[in-house]
Amino acid sequence: MTDSTATNSTATDSTAIAKKRRWPLWLLLAIVVLAAVAYVAVIKRHQLIISSLGTGAPPALLDAQNEGPDARWLDDYFVVVAIDPQTFAIVEPRYEQQNINYLIVGHDRALLFDAGSGLRNVAAAAATLTDKPITFVPSHLHYDHIGNGGPFARLALVDLPHLRERMVTSENGDALSLVWEEHLGSAEGYALPTLKVDEWLAPNSVVSLGGRALRVLYTPGHTDDSISLYDTARGYLFAGDFMYQGPLYAFLPNSSLGDYSQGAATLLRSVPDDVKIFGAHRTGPQGVPILNREDIQAVSDTLIKISNQTVEAQGRYPLTYPINERMQLLAEPRWLQNWEQRYPDL
Ligand SMILES: [Zn+2]
Repeated sequence: MTDSTATNSTATDSTAIAKKRRWPLWLLLAIVVLAAVAYVAVIKRHQLIISSLGTGAPPALLDAQNEGPDARWLDDYFVVVAIDPQTFAIVEPRYEQQNINYLIVGHDRALLFDAGSGLRNVAAAAATLTDKPITFVPSHLHYDHIGNGGPFARLALVDLPHLRERMVTSENGDALSLVWEEHLGSAEGYALPTLKVDEWLAPNSVVSLGGRALRVLYTPGHTDDSISLYDTARGYLFAGDFMYQGPLYAFLPNSSLGDYSQGAATLLRSVPDDVKIFGAHRTGPQGVPILNREDIQAVSDTLIKISNQTVEAQGRYPLTYPINERMQLLAEPRWLQNWEQRYPDL
């Protein structure tokens, strides 16, 4: 009797525990759905962040400001600052991203380094500043640098294996159709373009403009197709989005902190102490900000600190790491950070 009662009691207890432990079906389903949503959000994070950064249409123009005594308004949109008689910054102060494109003129030809988003035609603006034939060179392939729609008489592109292998050759020459990850134009409603490529620029090669030479430096990090141009004789470095005064974006689809470290190392061994660095955007109210070698060193030091986890970041996504009083580095959280180098030998 006693034994039987004890057995019944034990059976009742374990049934009660089993009942207590069984999770309601709705809760299990909710957990599965939340896990799936979190997974998709991580996988699609770049699409989500790009759609949150733009509205799918070009932004409204900013009001024109006083651009200072060194600037000349070319029309109601472009401002030109002559860095010297053969070097011009063509600024877009009314575009939300405040792009700065550079016209670099030699005796035989000129290069237009970057062309904005195409909201207005920078190539036509550049043609008013020189009678030399102009070759367009994008610092990288983001929509706000390739002047969507051009048109460009001639285009030169960095010679990288992953771009070369996608070239389609026809009687009209080589053409490259961009993919979303390298263009991101959906932020402002730009369709994916096809670029006609007339000339390939090998990293570390020298482009001659006639009496003026520019070294092509592979400076990835912001993207894996980013280059800078270095004018050895004048000590000018045109750095694209690798560095400028403001927040540096290192959290985009083709960004890599390992690549950024490589780009900084390349610049530190390629440019002198008195280099003048011209970036592709500005955040200040007027003029053309100039960075210097200490700023490259600060980028490099910050990357080492991020790698060692000896620097504090602010925010959740992207994280904001301080570089110095002129720059910040925006990166992904530690567990999503990419430290791979795509072309470590370049
Ligand atoms: Zn960019």
